Amino acid sequence: MPVDLHTHSSFSDGSDAPTALVAKAARFGLEALALTDHDTLQGIPEAMAAAAEHGIELVPGTEISCEWAPGTLHMVVLFLTPGPGPLQDRLEGLRRSRSRRNERIVERLHSLGMDIVYDEVLAEAGDGSVGRPHFAAVMVRKGYVPDITTAFDKYLANGRPAYVTRERLRPRDAIRLARESGAVPVVAHPHTMGLDTAADFAAIFEELHGDGLVGVECSYSEYEPDQQALYADLARRFGLIASGGSDYHGTYKPGIELGVGRGGLRVPYSVLDELRAGA
Ligand code: AMP
Ligand code: ZN
Ligand code: FE
Ligand code: FE
Repeated sequence: MPVDLHTHSSFSDGSDAPTALVAKAARFGLEALALTDHDTLQGIPEAMAAAAEHGIELVPGTEISCEWAPGTLHMVVLFLTPGPGPLQDRLEGLRRSRSRRNERIVERLHSLGMDIVYDEVLAEAGDGSVGRPHFAAVMVRKGYVPDITTAFDKYLANGRPAYVTRERLRPRDAIRLARESGAVPVVAHPHTMGLDTAADFAAIFEELHGDGLVGVECSYSEYEPDQQALYADLARRFGLIASGGSDYHGTYKPGIELGVGRGGLRVPYSVLDELRAGA
């Protein structure tokens, strides 16, 4: 049976509470689900309880944005259990940096003529990590933009007027902290890394493998078939495990469904066993 190793709940910028997310996974016939909310493990206990009830396996995890240019490098960290630990402890500081950044985004939106206060964004976000998609949702609701994509394209994306940076871990530090915490670091959606050629990817993956990287997301909702083949080939070459997930966010990323992405995604359970062995 298939699995989904990259998903978000209402504890970050997903629209489904962990209980609803797990119930949906069970309904869709997934055998295992990783909850990978940005910079937080706060949704894990609820997801674990729901998973026990539905008889599916819940992999605790998180997704971290790393220092990277010109694109973005996100690290999905699997098998990271809530409680004290090297990476777990670091997440709190990342969330604080997120809050400081968010206050500055509010100021930017004001200066752009938008009447939005941070309490509205906090109300949109609920518990957990507050992120740009929550700003986008408030901007949509108040009629400043027609949809979330436009909010990013016009205002919130890197290089746009309401973009504000925040503290990020260097990739090698994220990898080291994950490994020291007994968890499994996986480079998420490498097509966003701003790399062009297979040789560029090869050089980077080789370096990250040397830093202790375990996996790379080779199946993903947004890949073209040739991208999937390239990443799978590179993973084989550098001894990285080919992970996969939908990056399901519910209504915050319309068109992407749990387990199946845009329809064609399918990640077999054997991938999870390989990743577990890499811890
Ligand atoms: P943050 O972690 O608060 O900086 O927000 C990052 C999140 O925003 C990512 O995980 C994506 O889910 C979402 N995001 C980033 N860029 C875009 C975009 N261009 N359109 C829609 N969502 C985006
Ligand atoms: Zn997200
Ligand atoms: Fe991501
Ligand atoms: Fe994600």
